[in-house]
Amino acid sequence: MENKLDGNAAGGILQAIFPFEMTLVRATCSGCGTTNVIGATAAYIHGMGTVIRCPSCDNVLVRIVHARDRYLLDMRGVRVLEIKDG
Ligand SMILES: [Zn+2]
Repeated sequence: MENKLDGNAAGGILQAIFPFEMTLVRATCSGCGTTNVIGATAAYIHGMGTVIRCPSCDNVLVRIVHARDRYLLDMRGVRVLEIKDG
């Protein structure tokens, strides 16, 4: 079972990891080169964790698993993260 949502749905778990508002961070897809804010990507949230996909090519941008006392973050699908400074 998984629910397809927009990237804003992943904001909660991302907030637990990053000290800035991740839904506003721009991510460039390593698959197709498209840049989107995380909030405008596609998020799949299920029991095993959260998967954030590129809305253009469906490439997996970020995979997050919360297991016991740690987060496992796979970001190999992101070429560049652009974080606004202030
Ligand atoms: Zn893409």
